[in-house]
Amino acid sequence: MRTAVVVGGGIGGLSAAIGLRRAGWRVTVFERAPRVTGIGAGITLWPNALRALEVLGLDLTPLTVPQSTGRLRDHRGRWLTRVDGAEFERVLGRPILGIARAQLIDLLREEVPAADLHAGVTVTGVTADGRVRWDGGELHADLVVAADGIHSGVRADLWPDHPGAVYTGQTAFRALLDNSGRSGLSGILGPGTEVGMVPLTGDRLYWYLACHAPEGRRHADPLGYLRGRFHDLPDPLPALLDATPPDRLLHHDLFALRTPLPTYLRGRVALLGDAAHAMTPYLGQGGCQAIEDAVVLAAAIAGHERVEDALAHYDRERRPRSQAIARRSDQAGRFGTRLTNPLAVAARNAVFRLAPASLSVRAATAAAHWTPPPIG
Ligand SMILES: Cc1cc2nc3c(=O)[nH]c(=O)nc-3n(C[C@H](O)[C@H](O)[C@H](O)COP(=O)(O)OP(=O)(O)OC[C@H]3O[C@@H](n4cnc5c(N)ncnc54)[C@H](O)[C@@H]3O)c2cc1C
Repeated sequence: MRTAVVVGGGIGGLSAAIGLRRAGWRVTVFERAPRVTGIGAGITLWPNALRALEVLGLDLTPLTVPQSTGRLRDHRGRWLTRVDGAEFERVLGRPILGIARAQLIDLLREEVPAADLHAGVTVTGVTADGRVRWDGGELHADLVVAADGIHSGVRADLWPDHPGAVYTGQTAFRALLDNSGRSGLSGILGPGTEVGMVPLTGDRLYWYLACHAPEGRRHADPLGYLRGRFHDLPDPLPALLDATPPDRLLHHDLFALRTPLPTYLRGRVALLGDAAHAMTPYLGQGGCQAIEDAVVLAAAIAGHERVEDALAHYDRERRPRSQAIARRSDQAGRFGTRLTNPLAVAARNAVFRLAPASLSVRAATAAAHWTPPPIG
């Protein structure tokens, strides 16, 4: 049986492990964290990712929360456009799913035999011929999937000329709330700020706020800081901040790969997920693209005799699409969260108000029209 090592037990790495196992390979996953678990409150999965997960044998439909019509509003609380979850579902054939990250990682992890999943193991070196080294040993694999995230060590080692991920100038606060009593995707778009709310199963709510900030700035009382800085933002932000227990609030700076990689391959090593194309979160597609990568890689492996041919196919299929979506995500940020000039903000808001709702739906759903290949 041919063997693969997956470096990283995040969304991309676990999806790749499931797909490669379906292609008949023996897979070993190394994850440096002591436990394989999801950090980061919630995540939205678009229909492109839901279809890919179905190919991996996971049906997330039971976790879907019916999304009633929500609103996108400006910083004064004025209506900008409708966010119609039902219309998204009609256009895309599937709903947009909000899910707790821990729940998603649990679902993926359960599909990988525990004996093949090694948590608490940091990979310290990978070579293009498939050699993988970690603190306690070394092995050789027919394929190495580097799914080690935005600050990928494998990418740094094997693509030494690439500048790596850069700070986007924005930071993100996120939390998961119980008993929210809210339904419908909704948000607030202010100057240099975006707030989003995504209902999850069990009456929970995932909310996030992205805003400008110097890299690395942290606050002794982050909720107090948000209340002060965004005191003029409309409801429901004040209510969300009041309802958020301090230990539930997460704060991460946003990084992205601004220089697209010329290839995702080095010999028998393939970059996947954020390691390959870390993007800004403004389209909610980073994790979705990692899942797409995994399915395309597994399908290519199942469909080609030679690993080299399979990898060449993977690179051809995945690089243009994932890098185009990363670019579009950046553009969405430039037109949305990153816009600070008051005149530009007013013009953007006017476009939102005047454009037919169907146009916003088309723009928001463009990346989600994708059909995965079957594995084998
Ligand atoms: C604020 C925010 C909101 C987002 N919202 C969405 C959204 O709504 N929808 C969406 O699709 N995406 C979203 N994303 C993007 C999404 O989170 C990422 O694209 C996704 O998590 C990438 O998965 P990954 O498996 O490639 O990387 P990661 O999740 O980073 O996993 C990499 C794993 O590799 C491990 N690792 C690293 N180095 C080593 C090593 N040397 N040895 C062993 N293990 C190692 C790490 O511990 C980690 O577990 C968002 C991102 C942010 C920051």
